[in-house]
Amino acid sequence: MLAPQQPPDAGTAWNLTDLYASPRDPALSLDLEKSLKTARDFQSEYQEIEIASLEPADFFRALKRYEAILEIGLKPFLYGSLLFSEDTQDPVHKTLLQKGKEAWNQLENTLLFFRLALTRLPDSKLKALGDYSPLKEYRHALEFHHRFQPFTLKEKEEEIVNRKNLTGRSAFMNLFDEFTGSFVFHLKIGEQEKELTGSEMLALLHSPDRELREEAFRTFLQYHGENSLVLTALFNALVLDYRVEDEFRGYKGPMQRTHLENEIAPETVDLMMAVTENYYPLAQEYFQVKACLLGIPKLKNSDIYAPLPGGHREIPLPEAKDLLLGSFGRFHPLFGRIAAEFFEKKWVDAKIRKGKYGGAFCSGLTPSLHPYLLLNYTGNLRDVLTLAHEMGHGIHFYLARKQSLLNFDPPLTLAETASVFGEMIMVQALLRDEADPEVRQALLGAEIEDIIATVFRQNVLTRFELALYDRRREHLLTGDEIGDLWWRENANLFGKAVEMIPEYRWGWSYISHFIHSRFYCYSYIFGELVVLTLYEKYLEEGEAFIPGFIRLLESGGSASPDELLSHLGLDINRPDFWERGFKVIRKLIDELKSLRP
Ligand SMILES: [Zn+2]
Repeated sequence: MLAPQQPPDAGTAWNLTDLYASPRDPALSLDLEKSLKTARDFQSEYQEIEIASLEPADFFRALKRYEAILEIGLKPFLYGSLLFSEDTQDPVHKTLLQKGKEAWNQLENTLLFFRLALTRLPDSKLKALGDYSPLKEYRHALEFHHRFQPFTLKEKEEEIVNRKNLTGRSAFMNLFDEFTGSFVFHLKIGEQEKELTGSEMLALLHSPDRELREEAFRTFLQYHGENSLVLTALFNALVLDYRVEDEFRGYKGPMQRTHLENEIAPETVDLMMAVTENYYPLAQEYFQVKACLLGIPKLKNSDIYAPLPGGHREIPLPEAKDLLLGSFGRFHPLFGRIAAEFFEKKWVDAKIRKGKYGGAFCSGLTPSLHPYLLLNYTGNLRDVLTLAHEMGHGIHFYLARKQSLLNFDPPLTLAETASVFGEMIMVQALLRDEADPEVRQALLGAEIEDIIATVFRQNVLTRFELALYDRRREHLLTGDEIGDLWWRENANLFGKAVEMIPEYRWGWSYISHFIHSRFYCYSYIFGELVVLTLYEKYLEEGEAFIPGFIRLLESGGSASPDELLSHLGLDINRPDFWERGFKVIRKLIDELKSLRP
C-alpha cells in the first residue's frame, strides 16, 4: 500500500507525503545516493588532513558540511521507519526500512573518522575554535565530544571493539530479544485456554479481574524462571563484558560513562537517588490508598496497575482533540496553535489498524522536517493522557527546529520535559471539567501511578543494577543470587504496603533496559522530577514562568541540562532541588484522598 492514498478516515491518519510522495518516489533513491556520495567526497577530502590543524573558518565549513550530510542521510531512514510503523506487515515497508538502516550505517561508518577527530581535538584547539564567533553555537556539541577523549582508544582498537561486539555484546542482546520474544504462554481465561505473547501477558496486569492479573503475572514470571539458565548466563556475560571494556577505557565505576553521556555530575545522581529513597513512604501511602479504592486489604504487586473504578470513561478522539487544543491554548496560545497545526496538516496518526505498531511515539525527525505523532487511540483516559504526552514531545521538537541538527535533540534527561508537562496540563483540564468523583479518582490515580513508575520504580531498578555490577565483580552469579538482590531492592520500595508474589524473584529477567542500555533508568527519575519541579514553579509564578519555559524547549540540545535549567533559575546541584518534585506528588495524593467517600 502506498502512502499517498487517502484513507476514508483521513482525519486520524497521517500524511507522509511531506517527506516523499511514496516509497517509489525517485527523490528517495536520489537522497540515498546523494548522501553517500557527499559523505565519500567529504571523506576523501578530509581523512588525510589533520582536522585539528584546520583554521577556525575552515573547520566551521567542514562541520557545516558534516551536519548537512547527516541531515540528508537521515531523511530516507526516518521515512522508512514511519512507513514501517504505519503497517509493519507490508513487505515494501520492511524492505525500505532495512535499506534505510543499511544506508545510514554505511554513512555513519564513512563519517566515523570525523567524529573521532572531534573527540580528539586538543584543549588549546577547542578553546581557539570556541573563540571564533560563528562556531559559538557548536560550543556545547564540541565540548560534549571532547569529554570522551580520555576514554577513547586508538583507532585500530576502537575498530576491534566495534567489530568484536558483533559476535559479543550485540549477539547477546539479539539473543535476549529473540529468545524472550519466542516465549509463548498458556493461560486459562474464563473457560478458554489461550496462547499469549509476553506483552499480551503483561497487558493483563491492567485487567479488572484480580485473579486473572495474578495468574497471568505468576505464569509469566514462572516461565522466565524455568529458562533461568540462559537468562542468567546472558546477564553474567553482559555485566562482565561492560566491566572489561570500562577497565580498558579507564572509566571509574560502571556508571561513569552514562553520567558523561547525560552530562550530570555523579554526586547529583547520588543525591537524587537518596532523596527519592527518603520518599519511598509516599509511594507506600499511595499503594494503601489504592488498596482501599479497590476494596482489598492489601495490594499484591500484581495489583499495582489494576484499573480504578471510574477509569472506563470514554472520550472519543474529536472530544480529546478539543480538550487538548483548549487546555494547551489556555496554557499559552503558541501551544494551542502548534497543536492545532499537527491536526490540520495531518501530522498525527491515531487510528488503530491491523499491522500498525502497537505503542505511541513522537518522531522528531530533523530541523528541516516537522515531527509526526503515532498513537493507537481507543478512547480511554490513559489514551487522552498519551495524546497530551506525545503532543508535548511534538511541540518540543517543533520549537527546537530553530537549532541545527547537532543541537536539535534535547539531552536525554530533558527529553520528557514538554511531554510530561503536557500530561499535567491535560490532567488538570480534565479534573476541572469532571464532576463524577469516581472519574476524578481514576484520573488522579493514573497520573500518580505514572509518576510512581517513572520515579520510584526506576530508582529500584537502578539500585538493583548497581548491586548487580558490584556483586559480579566477585564471582559468576546464580539466578537465585540475582533474585535476592532484586527482591531486596523491591522490598525497600514496597515496605509493608505491598505483598510481592513469590515468582517475582524472576522480575529482573525480562527487563530489556538492563540488556540494551545499562543505567538508562535513572534518567527517567531525573526527567520526571525536573518536570514536576517546573510544574510547581509554573503554579507559583503563573504566566511569568512561560517565556523561560518556551526558551528551554527552543534550545533543544544546544547546552547541558544544568545550563538549560539554570536559565530558569533552577540549580540541580542544590540539595533541596530534588525535594520540590515530591511536593507535587504529595499534593496529588492529598487531592485523591480528599475525594474518598
Ligand atoms: Zn515520552
